[in-house]
Amino acid sequence: MKFGSAPITGRNQLQWVVLLAIAVVLPTVSLLWFMSRAVSNERLVIREKLAAIYQDKLALANQKAAESCAANISILDKTGQNENPYSLFKQLALEHNFEGVVAFDSKSAVIYPVPGDIISDTAQQDNDFAAARQLEFTARQYAEAAENYGRFSADKDPRIAIAAIMGKSRCLSKLGRLDEAIEECQKAAFVSVNRNTDTALLVAVQNARLLLLDLLRQAGAASRQELAQRTVDELIADIYSVPRMPSSRNLFIAGKVLQTFVDMPFLEGKASLKKETLVKLVAAEEFSIFIAENSSLVRTLPDRPPDTFFRAGADYCLYHKTPSMALLILFSDKGIASALAGYEDTFKSSDSAYRIVDASGDFVAGIAKPAGRPFATISLADCFPGWKVELYFKGGEIFDKAADRQIAIYIWTGSLVILLILIVGVFAARAIGRQIRLNKMKNDFIATVSHELKTPLSSMRVLVDTLLEGNIKDETQTEEYLRMTAKENERLSRMIDSFLTFSRMERNKKAFEIVPASPASIANDAAEAVRAKYAVHNCQFTVDIADNLPQIQADHGAMVTVLVNLLDNACKYTGDAKQISLKVFAEKDNVCFAVSDNGIGLAHRHIRKIFDSFYQVDNSLARKVEGCGLGLSIVKFIVDTHKGKISVDSKPGKGSTFTVRIPVFPKQAG
Ligand code: ADP
Repeated sequence: MKFGSAPITGRNQLQWVVLLAIAVVLPTVSLLWFMSRAVSNERLVIREKLAAIYQDKLALANQKAAESCAANISILDKTGQNENPYSLFKQLALEHNFEGVVAFDSKSAVIYPVPGDIISDTAQQDNDFAAARQLEFTARQYAEAAENYGRFSADKDPRIAIAAIMGKSRCLSKLGRLDEAIEECQKAAFVSVNRNTDTALLVAVQNARLLLLDLLRQAGAASRQELAQRTVDELIADIYSVPRMPSSRNLFIAGKVLQTFVDMPFLEGKASLKKETLVKLVAAEEFSIFIAENSSLVRTLPDRPPDTFFRAGADYCLYHKTPSMALLILFSDKGIASALAGYEDTFKSSDSAYRIVDASGDFVAGIAKPAGRPFATISLADCFPGWKVELYFKGGEIFDKAADRQIAIYIWTGSLVILLILIVGVFAARAIGRQIRLNKMKNDFIATVSHELKTPLSSMRVLVDTLLEGNIKDETQTEEYLRMTAKENERLSRMIDSFLTFSRMERNKKAFEIVPASPASIANDAAEAVRAKYAVHNCQFTVDIADNLPQIQADHGAMVTVLVNLLDNACKYTGDAKQISLKVFAEKDNVCFAVSDNGIGLAHRHIRKIFDSFYQVDNSLARKVEGCGLGLSIVKFIVDTHKGKISVDSKPGKGSTFTVRIPVFPKQAG
């Protein structure tokens, strides 16, 4: 038999659990998602802000770089008209400080550095000088050799004459006749040569000059300073000016001149070319030869976009084309730094460090190994295609650290919020659990109430119907029926009273009138109220009230209800031989009302719960005793309102004692 509304089913409970899980999981997941978004947005915003600030600076630097590129290009346009590769080289290397240059003609053949080696046709000389050479180098008969060479010193072929003079001079020097050797050598060293036409003769004369310098060094040139200076100046005048002279030859002569500056220091200040200038030219020439020999680079040149910088090995190049030739300007890693000076100036600010990388991502300028990641990467001007400037915070990872701190704050805050959500979730789960239990109890209550009300009502109906049918003639039986009806009626009223009391208490509307009251009078009234009922049940009931009990602050009626409820229970939950006692005595500052029975008793686990509303140890509808689980919760409520205490001493099968302690002088009346 079912009563009341539909009970809370397992499915309903599952619904609550799912709802609660969603209520916890959904905000947690959303929060985590928002946190991660916030962190990455934070980084993005800061980076974008900084990048925007640096965009203006970059525009300025790009403008400077473009201008410097244009200036270089216009230099190349002008100098590219120079037909003489050496004067072109000297112009670019000395006037414009380019570190090296490779020039190509319209057919992409290298015209500078001038290719080729010294090819001296010595066949004729070898023939003519066979005897002299044999005397000089094999027989070491220098006097004879000198004489032998001397026969050719006026040869109509100037190259043979020069070779002969040099041979004679050499032999004289080997004979220790240095002065004569120098005299002799001068005849060859200052032969006038048309530089533009007779490269081979010039080479021979250069050799004679080199021999003369060597002889002067041996003789101690201090006394012949003028001669030494003239010889060096002649050599200097030849290098980097003879159109068809191979670059390798120029390098050789320049090296000799530099050596002479070491051997004869007095020449350094006097020579027509400063040592530093010569050193610079030699370096540029060496650099140019080195790059020109990089055939794979030279091969790919025509495909390169003109007027742009690119990397070639460890160096950099700028490629430019004029109508008549193509030029490759060379920059070492130091040189490229000056080409990038505009960027250096701009990004050399106090708050950031920069790093310029080329199209293949290789380091070019700035900080080689920066710490952390760049906060902005921006493209350079058009003449540096694919090159980028990366901007870093100085001090490395300050930005990352700041971002990490921010992230830590987000994570901590997020974790705290998640923890809070979980705690709230746990509390909500418990509250919902309580609510579910309460609902169940209320449903049970409705079922119990219906059941409890139905029993006296149906008894009364049967009794009244029997009386109305008029079948009973006997007056005593009629009286008996009426008495039974009245009893059932009274039971019904008590029950309804109980429900109403509970209902009022639930709404906290019950107000007690707490005044000084006599414990004995309360106990007597309660005993009187149950006495008739106890008599019916053959109850052995004793009341023991101590003398001279102090007054308590109490609502007389409410306290009688407390005791009646306890005495009712003592009767209800006791077997056939009922022994019940009510004792009232003083204890410290309290007056105790103890109701004892020899009934079924209570297990320890139930004792904690019996004061809860609707709680019944046996809540089956089949149980024999009447009641709805409200009696003790009413008792507890009243005792609490009196600032009193209730305790239970009970053992299953051994009976129970319920003791109510009410303070003699309650501090505050409720
Ligand atoms: P009821 O209307 O069911 O008696 P109460 O609130 O008065 O409700 O009591 C709650 C429960 O406590 C009872 O259902 C019963 O199981 C238990 N109980 C109360 N008094 C006693 C007692 N004197 N002995 C044994 N059990 C008791």
